[in-house]
Amino acid sequence: MQDRQLYEQILGIPSPWFVERVELKLEEGEVHVHLGHHEQAVWRCAECDRECSLYDHAPSRSWRHLDTCQYRTLVHAATPRTECPKHGVHAVRLPWAEPHSRFTLLFERLAIDWLLAASQTAVAGGLGLSWDEVHGIMQRAVARGLKRREAEAIPRIGVDEKAFCKGHRYATLVTDLDQSRVLYVAEDRKQASLGLEGTGDAALELQIRGVSPQAL
Ligand SMILES: [Zn+2]
Repeated sequence: MQDRQLYEQILGIPSPWFVERVELKLEEGEVHVHLGHHEQAVWRCAECDRECSLYDHAPSRSWRHLDTCQYRTLVHAATPRTECPKHGVHAVRLPWAEPHSRFTLLFERLAIDWLLAASQTAVAGGLGLSWDEVHGIMQRAVARGLKRREAEAIPRIGVDEKAFCKGHRYATLVTDLDQSRVLYVAEDRKQASLGLEGTGDAALELQIRGVSPQAL
């Protein structure tokens, strides 16, 4: 099997995307996977999902993926942009990453699995991430979870305070005690961190309203 086919299978990239080439940089300890797409691909507006004509491509950029053995693995692609009659020019949604993320969804999933078992400092150190990158991964995971759950009732929630940077900074984590999942993350330890003072997280506020004060 060629490396291109191997990476297509590993990445699980659907048509019209394919692996154009794989570049192994031994000295840097990196694998670079370059993606392309078929010419006759059908693209949809990221806002309304309407089939649209291709406008152009954004400059090529990269996403960090799960390491290949000990090699840091980066996926490269130029994101197509569509021109929607209603919404104008927008980058299409990509099957391997969320908008504005510098990581693939599989990498973010790995980081979340680690975060469920270790401190943010340990995960940041182990995966070579900054605090802001860890925080961004957590926020996107929470947003995805909230979207899936909508207004599902959470019978028992826990509020935990995590210190990092040698105790100089704090994060507040709200978790579902029954299903061991993170519901919300905020970077400080004020009451507003819990979403109880109109911080704009309506989904969380709705969930918390259904919980008895004792549970907090
Ligand atoms: Zn549109």
